[in-house]
Amino acid sequence: MNEIKIFSPATVANVACGFDVLGFCLDSVGDQMVIRKTDKKGIYITKIEGGFNLPYEAELNVAGVSALAMYEAIDVNFGFEIEIYKNIKPGSGIGSSAASAVGSVFGMNELIGKPFNKTQLTKFAIQGEALASKCEHADNLAPALFGGFTLVKSLVPLEILELPSPDAIFATIIHPQIEIKTSEARAILPKEVALSDAITQWANFGSLVHALHTSNYDLIQKSLHDVIVEPHRSKLIPHYNEIKTTALKAGALGCGISGSGPSIFSLCKGLKTANHVKNAIESLYAKTGIEFDMHVSKINVDGVKIID
Ligand code: ADP
Repeated sequence: MNEIKIFSPATVANVACGFDVLGFCLDSVGDQMVIRKTDKKGIYITKIEGGFNLPYEAELNVAGVSALAMYEAIDVNFGFEIEIYKNIKPGSGIGSSAASAVGSVFGMNELIGKPFNKTQLTKFAIQGEALASKCEHADNLAPALFGGFTLVKSLVPLEILELPSPDAIFATIIHPQIEIKTSEARAILPKEVALSDAITQWANFGSLVHALHTSNYDLIQKSLHDVIVEPHRSKLIPHYNEIKTTALKAGALGCGISGSGPSIFSLCKGLKTANHVKNAIESLYAKTGIEFDMHVSKINVDGVKIID
């Protein structure tokens, strides 16, 4: 096999109470990529489509950086070409950079007979993701690679836990077309948190993990609260509180900021409710004059996958 075409999915990180450790994978939004062996040694980004102004130099593109990290770890007498067909808007907060970082190493691994497991691939991808976010994290990479809900138990050593995804869970995403710099979203966070807030947060987080294991939708609803990050970051997203109130009123189990924003996710039981939440948010946000995109997706339990 000399060439492979893959779907590299969008992801939601943090998931309310799981700041920096929890994420889940989307099914209906993602990039496509073609990875091809080439006689010339090295990593070459040969095509980027989608209308975004992303760099072709491998060292400046997250897909190239993670590919280079893996290339250094293998001994081959050929190189790789990467084509990126981007659907996930960079900076949207649904793992645009993670999809690229994951796609290149997943595709290369398939072309050389899969010497690396998914945790090892995540390590290469972390280096690509670090280019975009200026710090090492895997909360978008892990769900993009493993699919479903994932918990990054630790970065050093890298330990990723795969959590079950209850069958009826769907996500509704709104992406208001405003720019939030990840650095600004980080800077706004407090350096310390009150013990009482920490207790609430880890109780919610623990119960969310339990709820995923037991497909307990009522408990998912009771657990999807973030008392530490959301009160600060929500100020950066216009009309955040109205969106959340609307989503919950329309039947969402919970609603929160996707990654560092500006996208906002709602988790819903059933496709019908997810679409109802979408329509309610759409009617609300259409009045604001701010451009936005919306997506409804089931949870993608496979993660990145071969499509041709
Ligand atoms: P997101 O959460 O949507 O991934 P980030 O802010 O983390 O957004 O990453 C987007 C940044 O990464 C942008 O500055 C973009 O120019 C840069 N970048 C470099 N290569 C890529 C790529 N292949 N895909 C997406 N973003 C990339």
